[in-house]
Amino acid sequence: MTDRRRVVIVGAGFGGLAAAKRLEREDVDVTLVDRHNFHTFLPLLYQVATAGLNAADVGYVVRGVFRREQQVRFRKDEVVGVDWDARTVDLAAEGPVPFDHLVVAAGSSTNYFGVDGAREHAFPLYSLEDAVRVRNHLLSLFEAADSEPGLVDDGVLNFVVVGGGPTGVEVAGALVELIEKVLEQDFHDLDVHRARVILVEQADRLLAPFSASSQRYARKTLVRRGVEVRLGTAVERIAVDHVALSSGEVLRTRLVLWAAGVRAGVLADRLGVEQGPGGRITVGDDLSIEGHPEAFAIGDIADIADDSGGRLPQLAQVAIQGGTHAAEQVLADIDGRPRTPFRYHDKGTMATIGRRAAVAEIPRRGGRARVLHGGAAWLAWLGLHLVYLVGVRNRLSVLTSWAWNYLTWDRGPRLILRPEVLPHSPRVEPDARPPSHGPGAPAPLLNPDRAPG
Ligand SMILES: Cc1cc2nc3c(=O)[nH]c(=O)nc-3n(C[C@H](O)[C@H](O)[C@H](O)COP(=O)(O)OP(=O)(O)OC[C@H]3O[C@@H](n4cnc5c(N)ncnc54)[C@H](O)[C@@H]3O)c2cc1C
Repeated sequence: MTDRRRVVIVGAGFGGLAAAKRLEREDVDVTLVDRHNFHTFLPLLYQVATAGLNAADVGYVVRGVFRREQQVRFRKDEVVGVDWDARTVDLAAEGPVPFDHLVVAAGSSTNYFGVDGAREHAFPLYSLEDAVRVRNHLLSLFEAADSEPGLVDDGVLNFVVVGGGPTGVEVAGALVELIEKVLEQDFHDLDVHRARVILVEQADRLLAPFSASSQRYARKTLVRRGVEVRLGTAVERIAVDHVALSSGEVLRTRLVLWAAGVRAGVLADRLGVEQGPGGRITVGDDLSIEGHPEAFAIGDIADIADDSGGRLPQLAQVAIQGGTHAAEQVLADIDGRPRTPFRYHDKGTMATIGRRAAVAEIPRRGGRARVLHGGAAWLAWLGLHLVYLVGVRNRLSVLTSWAWNYLTWDRGPRLILRPEVLPHSPRVEPDARPPSHGPGAPAPLLNPDRAPG
C-alpha cells in the first residue's frame, strides 16, 4: 500500500499506452486495463487480413511494454462500468478497482448504421481477431472455388468492400494485389482473374477527408489496378450470399468487408455520462469528462471539439496526443498547478492504395497542405508506420516482410487457421457445402460464427 495517487487507464490502445508511458516514471500508481493482453496497431490490420503480415507483427504484449516499470500494473480484464460515487472501475473478473484519476481510452467499435443484415453477415475490421477471420474466410473461398469451380458463378470470388474511407481504399487495393500477384501463382487450376473486388461508397468520392486531387488519384489508381469502384451507391441489405445496392444492383458475394464507419466503444454507453455524435463522450477543453473532473476521455471514444467548431477525427495521433495531455493534467492536479487546454497538433494524414501508390497530406504553417501522391507518399507511409509500430521486434519483422514481399511478391502468412485455434473463425467445411448451387439452394460458405458487436 502506498499513498500515491491511483490512476486507472482503460484501454491499451494508442491513447491508453501514451498516457501510461507519460506516467510510468512519475510518483503515481498506474493500473492499465485492457480486454486483450496486447496492444493492436490498427492501421496495419488490413495487411493481416490480406495475408501481408502476421498477426503477431501488429500486436504487442502490454506487459512487455512496461516490464521495467514497477508502478504500472496491467490487468487483462473487461471494464463493465464505473461507480462514480465510490470512485471504482468495475472489472468483469476482478471486481471494483479504486482510482483517484481515471483515463477512459476504450476506442471505438463498428458502426453498421442499421443496415439490414450487416451485423450478421458483414466482416468488420476492428481487431486482430477480425483480421485473422477475414484472412481465413478469404483464403477458404479460394480453396472452395479451386475444388468446385462452379462456385465462382455463385459469387464466391466476389469481394465487396463497403466504405471508401482510408480503410476501405487500403483493403481494396491490397486485395487486388493479393489476388493478381500472389494467389494467381498459388492456384494453378483456378482462373483467379475471375475474382472481383468491388468498393462501394455512398458519397460521390473516395477518401472524404482528403483533397480533391488525392481523391481523384486514389480512384484512378484503384480502377487501373482492377478495383470496381461504385460511388454514390449505398448498401441497402446484406445477406449471406449477396449484397443489395441502392442502384438496384444485387451482387452475389460471400465476403463483405465492412469499413463504413465507427462509433464510440460500447463502454461509453455504460458510464452514465453525456455523449455526443456517434456515442462519443463529451469532454471539456482539458479532456475531462463533463461532471467528473477527476476523469478524462481520450482518443476515439471522446468527442473533442477542434478550433473551428468541428470535432477532431478518430485518428491515432489524436489519441496519442490526448493520452499524453490527460496524463499531464493528472500530474498538474497532483502538483497543484492549473490545468491546460488540449491543443491538437495536426501532423497530416495518409492512406496507401498499394505498391508505390499512396496519398499524403501534410499541413504547412499558414499555407496549403503539402500533397504527395505515388511513390514518395508510399515511402513516407511505410516509414511513418514503422516508426509508430510498438516494439523493435515487430518493426524488424514488418520491415523484413515488406522487403520480401516487395522483391518477390511472395506474401508469407497465407494460413487458414482452424476454428479450434480461433473460435470465431468462420467455418468453411467441405461438408457444409450444399449438394447443388442452383437457384434456391442453401448458401454455401456461410459465416456462422459472426459474433455481434
Ligand atoms: C482498420 C483501421 C485502420 C486505421 N488506420 C489508421 C491510420 O492509417 N491512421 C490513423 O491515424 N488512424 C487509423 N485508424 C484509427 C486509429 O487506429 C484510432 O484512431 C486509434 O486506434 C484510437 O486510439 P484509442 O486509444 O482511442 O483506441 P484503440 O487504439 O482502439 O484502443 C482501445 C483499447 O481499449 C480496449 N478496450 C475497449 N473496450 C474495453 C473494455 N470495456 N475493457 C477493457 N478494454 C477495452 C481495446 O481492447 C483496445 O485495446 C485506423 C483504425 C482502423 C480500425
